[in-house]
Amino acid sequence: MRVTGYKSHGVGAAAALVNAVTSREGDDGDDALRAVLEEHGFFVQRFTPATAAALRPWARTLRSFFEAESLDAAVTLLNGLLSDVPMHPHLADHDELGLHVHYAPPEVALAHRVRATTLMNLAELLCDHGLDRIGVCAAADCDRVYADDSRGGRRRFCSDACANRTNVAAYRARRRTTG
Ligand SMILES: [Zn+2]
Ligand SMILES: [Zn+2]
Repeated sequence: MRVTGYKSHGVGAAAALVNAVTSREGDDGDDALRAVLEEHGFFVQRFTPATAAALRPWARTLRSFFEAESLDAAVTLLNGLLSDVPMHPHLADHDELGLHVHYAPPEVALAHRVRATTLMNLAELLCDHGLDRIGVCAAADCDRVYADDSRGGRRRFCSDACANRTNVAAYRARRRTTG
């Protein structure tokens, strides 16, 4: 039972949804949210304005997970959500991924599938790595979150752009003090 990436695309989808809905420069319009889901491997044929309306509060809820200050706080938050969001595991085999588990059957509303999948994949990430793999971007002027499901797991920025900008600023600061 394997799925691509971090067991599914739910980890990346969670961060992207949080950024679209809660960050200063995010776009939480219907089309933008549909694009986020599509990029992260969800079947969006049944995306409607109601899907977007249901995902906005979910993204705001998930933001507190990315901002959690302790493992205990993150666990308590996820356990609360896990008891609120009904899970109906379902075996699927599509797009040559091989047999794998979905956390909601195909007939439920898309927004529910997104809630169940993002929640379970974040829970799995937390079990495997604690808080090491999630957070708010370390760039001074950025409020976007990241979730790192790479093998090395050293990510501290939401994007290469933020990492590069921060490194350049640090380099200039060093030159000023040494030159
Ligand atoms: Zn699947
Ligand atoms: Zn950033």
